[in-house]
Amino acid sequence: MNDATPTHFIRNLVSDDLAAGRTEGRLATRFPPEPNGYLHIGHAKSICLNFGLAREFGGVCHLRFDDTNPAKEDTEYVDSIIDTVRWLGFDWGEHQYYASDYFERCYHYAERLIEQGLAYVDELSAEEIRVYRGTLTEHGKPSPWRDRSVAESLDLFRRMRAGEFADGRYVLRARIDMASPNLNLRDPALYRIRHLPHWRTGNDWCIYPMYDYAHAVSDAEERITHSLCTLEFEAHRPLYDWVVAHTPVPGTPHQYEFSRLNLSHTLMSKRRLLELVEEGHVQGWDDPRMPTLVGLRRRGYTPEAVRLFCERIGISKSDSVIDYSVLEDCLRHVLNEHAQRRVAVLRPIRLILQNVAEDFREVCTAPHHPHHTEWGGRSLGLTRELWIEQDDFMVEPVKGFFRLSPGKSVRLRYAYVITCTGYSVDAQTGGVTVHAVVDFDTRSGTPGADKIKVKGNIHWLSVSESVPAKVRLYDRLFTVANPAAVEDYRTVLNPCSMSEEIAQVEPACLLDVQPCQFERNGYFVRDPGTATDETLPVFNRAVTLRDSWQGS
Ligand code: ATP
Ligand code: MG
Repeated sequence: MNDATPTHFIRNLVSDDLAAGRTEGRLATRFPPEPNGYLHIGHAKSICLNFGLAREFGGVCHLRFDDTNPAKEDTEYVDSIIDTVRWLGFDWGEHQYYASDYFERCYHYAERLIEQGLAYVDELSAEEIRVYRGTLTEHGKPSPWRDRSVAESLDLFRRMRAGEFADGRYVLRARIDMASPNLNLRDPALYRIRHLPHWRTGNDWCIYPMYDYAHAVSDAEERITHSLCTLEFEAHRPLYDWVVAHTPVPGTPHQYEFSRLNLSHTLMSKRRLLELVEEGHVQGWDDPRMPTLVGLRRRGYTPEAVRLFCERIGISKSDSVIDYSVLEDCLRHVLNEHAQRRVAVLRPIRLILQNVAEDFREVCTAPHHPHHTEWGGRSLGLTRELWIEQDDFMVEPVKGFFRLSPGKSVRLRYAYVITCTGYSVDAQTGGVTVHAVVDFDTRSGTPGADKIKVKGNIHWLSVSESVPAKVRLYDRLFTVANPAAVEDYRTVLNPCSMSEEIAQVEPACLLDVQPCQFERNGYFVRDPGTATDETLPVFNRAVTLRDSWQGS
């Protein structure tokens, strides 16, 4: 056990259960996604919790696809989920399962429930069942079919399976308690008829188990010890326990609930994320503005940063909204330590060093990382024509502007102090070229470096030794903290959530696979996109160097 691991109530109860030998000394958890969408940062919380506990306590964590709804599920999602959980750094070994593995068992147990008088075939319509169920303040009313004989229910259930009836004609319900204060116990549906092929079981079934039933059976079949889920399932726990207690399943799992992750300025429901994709508000599930893990990955998030985030937010039972800046801070924390430094000049303008020859070239060394000197550095060629950022030059400097302007001096990073002697404007393009002279006594790292005190320190690249690229700068996808609370979240999409700039970058950037820091500009990663219309390499900004969000 690692003393640095923050503790929380679930970790404590697992630890207590194991110490007391309550689960035969075993820990088995599971992560049970429904393959109907891509995983998002909320799922990461559940993944880190389930796999993290198994790792810490020497248990196992299963990856189980909850594929009980053939209408919405797809192998595209299965593949992406597998890939993403691996990317996050977790491994389930041979323990990859599907709820559909247990369809035969679920069916078998359902017959046993009928035989015990604990389930019956109902023929009320879905709407009638809803009305009969009652409300929080009113008891439910028993269905006229509640007392159907065991033999008749068994016969009907078998014929449901055999495909004799249309969708909705019959439903299998548990016989629990129509007067229960818990609506989930008022004879919940266990099976419904759906004449739909399933992506795994094909046409084997035309009846499918309901989530609550299949989930409890799956957990018990896999002999899960701690079934961890989000708070909205708290009221389903008595049904979960009822299924485990009344079917001859091999295990006795227990369910525990924790609060789900809510993150500001984004949406976390798969249905809405699908809408964003399908309506073209973003460019796909892996759009770098999406809260999906494939999106964050493309944005430049590393698995370490996501895991750190999950550790920092902790596990509790109280609902809260985590500010997006917490996630960004985790990424900064990780990348500040691990990302190599590079130079990129955004919105470049030309600077001519007037007091050097056309063929002048001097090598300046820039470290890969300011603290990891053992990582070495790279060479930047200082030549007569350079690129500097448009924002680093002002013809008439405003108060507090300490960078380049006529008559003023700044340091070129890793090189010399220069003094601006003037500028020219291209009559046709309007492009500005800055003129300057170098003071060769001020080379960075030499005794004369501080001969002239300057406040500005700007980055630059040689025109002949840099390559053009595109950079994409991202911002919050929504302008308000809680878009889900707005009647139509489309009205609060941030129109400035992405902007594109032309840049000049160090050639070394083209070989980088990990995110790097573009000095003074933030952390960037090469976009893996291979769109054929892109003639330039594209870099995504993962996060700025400091929190700069000005919104609500
Ligand atoms: P949605 O309601 O958007 O479809 P879901 O909860 O149905 O999401 P599942 O695929 O069923 O998505 O989720 C798999 C697991 O991830 C479940 O155990 C669920 O509790 C957990 N999970 C989903 N969203 C969150 C979240 N925001 N925070 C923490 N855990 C989550
Ligand atoms: Mg779900």
